[in-house]
Amino acid sequence: MTTKAQQYLTHFRNIGIAAHIDAGKTTTTERILYYTGRTHNIGEVHDGAATMDWMEQERERGITITAAATTAKWKRSGTDQEYVVNIIDTPGHVDFTIEVERSMRVLDGAVAVFDSSQGVEPQSETVWRQADRYGVPRIAFSNKMDKTGASFELVLNDIKERLGAVAAPIQYPMGAENEFKGIIDVVRQRAHFYTNDLGTDIEETEVPAEYADKVAEIRAQLIEAAAEVDEDLMMKYLEGEEPSVEELVAAIRKGTIEKKIFPVLCGSALKNKGVQLLLDAVIDYLPSPLEVPAIKGKIEDSEDTQEFPADPEGKLAALAFKIMADPYVGRLTFVRIYSGTLQSGSYVYNATKEKRERVGRLLKMHANSREEVTELKAGELGAVIGLKDAGTGNTLIGDGDDKVLLESIDVPEPVIKL
Ligand code: GDP
Repeated sequence: MTTKAQQYLTHFRNIGIAAHIDAGKTTTTERILYYTGRTHNIGEVHDGAATMDWMEQERERGITITAAATTAKWKRSGTDQEYVVNIIDTPGHVDFTIEVERSMRVLDGAVAVFDSSQGVEPQSETVWRQADRYGVPRIAFSNKMDKTGASFELVLNDIKERLGAVAAPIQYPMGAENEFKGIIDVVRQRAHFYTNDLGTDIEETEVPAEYADKVAEIRAQLIEAAAEVDEDLMMKYLEGEEPSVEELVAAIRKGTIEKKIFPVLCGSALKNKGVQLLLDAVIDYLPSPLEVPAIKGKIEDSEDTQEFPADPEGKLAALAFKIMADPYVGRLTFVRIYSGTLQSGSYVYNATKEKRERVGRLLKMHANSREEVTELKAGELGAVIGLKDAGTGNTLIGDGDDKVLLESIDVPEPVIKL
């Protein structure tokens, strides 16, 4: 049951974007930050030139690349509901496998980006297996649909054959390579055409006749897969009744969280084709902090574990997952709060180092700004200034609370200079 204090968490998504090098992780992340920033931070941008300027500036400042966790806001298309999307940086290079694993611990869901012309590459397989190990629900994004050799079918088949997962296409591309014109939302049976090259304008229409049969076929398969995980939907399915869009979305989401269904989307991050719809899919199909199993902590001198459900009114339980040296404010400790509320200026207990530490200022990192806050609540991610001893993988609990150590990957990591 969700209490009133936990209500905000239903509108939170803590996600990572994982990919084989070159598949387009950076481009996808930048576009996501651009679109979320456009509506919430930097006002309207009317032409493509401004888009590129903004991206260039960001690239120069390196913010999008180096923040371990960036907080963005997204209003789901067609609704007035605003969501907080925290994007956790997951390193894409195979040398950083340990870092990838560590970041897996602090996210609730992930977007796996594939290059549509390459299918599932070896490194994507490694990251996929790590996500499996950590039970991370995923959606897949078949990127670069505009590129020569792009094939949505290739990615779908590879996901099935190489990753052994039930790939459920929830989108279907209209055209490919130079002829890539947009995508069809299979669940809602609507076509989205991109009417300018940057894809900032989307025209929504009925499904064009030439795609009707194909879309009907994959939608039928989608309903079948969704019925497997949702009893009510199965009843309807057996009676030959058509589920509503809401019912179908809810069932696919359940399948995603149970890791029985992997929704697959497609688009082109470079041409901005599909990123807005990707964000909508993050909202629709990836879990909120309330929908993932509560993190466990090991109680000192005992075989017992304690669970920390996502609740701002619960006992403080936070994990430091990345340390960065900032030229202006010094040491930044990125934390995820699982339970309770971390207050600026308070004392916490570092259960790993067995030290009491003082929390200085607290920051939320946005794509183009830093916001100072007085508290970070359960489900939130941010950076702490002032922690002297906390290292990567350390557990922070309330000062005076019983000692517990959160499940984490305890590997030393050098401080990375900004
Ligand atoms: P990362 O290594 O996964 O972060 O990949 P990047 O985002 O840096 O992209 C690698 C290369 O692919 C860059 O040259 C991008 O411009 C290009 N790229 C990314 N997305 C697309 C896309 O949708 N279409 C095409 N044609 N190229 C893309």
